[in-house]
Amino acid sequence: MEPNVSVGDGLPPSAASCQSLGHFCGVAGVRSPEPVDIPRTLFYMLFSLQHRGQESCGIAWEEEGKWRSRRDMGMVAPALGRYVQECHLSSLGIGHVRYSTAGGSGIQNAQPIVVDCNKGRIALAHNGNISNGGELRNGLTAEGSIFQGTADSELILHAFSRSRKPDREGFLREALEPLEGAYSLAIMHEDALVAARDPSGFRPLYIGHSGSKTFVASETCALHALAPMDYREVEPGEVVIVDDAGERSFFLEPKRPPKRCVFELIYFARPDSEVFGRSVHAARVLLGEALADQDSSGLGADIVIPVPDSGNISAIGYARRSGLPFDFGLARSHYAGRSFTLPTKDQRELMVRLKLHAVPEVVSGKSVVMIDDSLVRGTTSRIIVNLLREAGAREVHVRLAAPELKWPCYYGIDIPDREQLISNRLDPEGIAREIGADSVRFLPVARLLEVLNGDRGFCSACFDGHHPFPLKPGRKDDR
Ligand code: SF4
Repeated sequence: MEPNVSVGDGLPPSAASCQSLGHFCGVAGVRSPEPVDIPRTLFYMLFSLQHRGQESCGIAWEEEGKWRSRRDMGMVAPALGRYVQECHLSSLGIGHVRYSTAGGSGIQNAQPIVVDCNKGRIALAHNGNISNGGELRNGLTAEGSIFQGTADSELILHAFSRSRKPDREGFLREALEPLEGAYSLAIMHEDALVAARDPSGFRPLYIGHSGSKTFVASETCALHALAPMDYREVEPGEVVIVDDAGERSFFLEPKRPPKRCVFELIYFARPDSEVFGRSVHAARVLLGEALADQDSSGLGADIVIPVPDSGNISAIGYARRSGLPFDFGLARSHYAGRSFTLPTKDQRELMVRLKLHAVPEVVSGKSVVMIDDSLVRGTTSRIIVNLLREAGAREVHVRLAAPELKWPCYYGIDIPDREQLISNRLDPEGIAREIGADSVRFLPVARLLEVLNGDRGFCSACFDGHHPFPLKPGRKDDR
């Protein structure tokens, strides 16, 4: 049951990226001893996390002893902007942006989820996937539990409610420890803001302080958007509770080896963010430099260009290391829609052509090194290579700042079925032929992990198939 909840009018999502990998989710939270306009603060934080999910968004906050919630389909500005026109003084709130990876994309799965239960009033915002979620859901359903939506986030609330531990730390621990997979959580429980991260630390989560206020966010860009502040990573397995008694942490068992999602650094996180304790921008420069090292025997290329925006930073690294000039040989329109939601191949191809434009002044007559972050189906790359040739490029060498993508993800990233992944069908030479490039080269997994100090513990299962937690039976893998 959701107190004081308003669900929006279900408008469809507006324009978003043409990338073939789905983003996942982002969470935010605020607690302030002195009442402030928390909905507006959350709005700014979610606006900064928009790249982590464009299908739906929502906020929940306390106001004069009541809990209020607003959720809607679509992007943050059109979906939530109308709710933050007036000041709502509050001490506590959380927010969420969503891209569905488990469960459908309907409004019933928008978050935060707000419930009254035997542990009091709880609101939950979740980033990640519970890989034993199907098994747990089947067990709960068989025992009579009712679910409002299909997302596995609801399982966590059921686990809170079913815990026999009456105290906050006790029921959080008892509910979270059996979960496998990925969760970074922002939770409201009565007067408390809670931030929790799974013991493997798949998804990032940060906590920051400005004056007496506490902020929680998936990425530091959402903290920077508000004010300069001190912040730190919520550690893998850490649960931070902030309430009237102050701030304290405890750690979940079992302790597990860290498995931070390496794709956060390659593509998903915003480049001005810090995730996993390192600068995303700096990591992508290193990946570009490593790509250039692989071509040190010389390609005879004239120029390095990125596929904007995903390849921008690695292309800077490649250009610096190789000594080749960097330029923008592709211009991007920020007003085109989502190519993969269009029904026919011709329409999708037209959308890519409307979104990306080759710049003849930059590429004509040149041998071009084109840098992108990863290769999924290969269809967009084929169109882009063709655009460059139409603009007069003499040679096109495609370089990917990631290994060959071959496996699904069960931890919160929407990767297409294996048979759709071009690297499961073809080797780099075959891919070059299929997309019309002169050559294609990836960064091997070992080199990727070496460059990023892999001893810090990364998940690279979508590249090497070494899944830390396999998908347990019971949940239809709906990617
Ligand atoms: S499988 Fe890939 S996308 Fe998923 S968590 Fe691991 S590295 Fe990230």
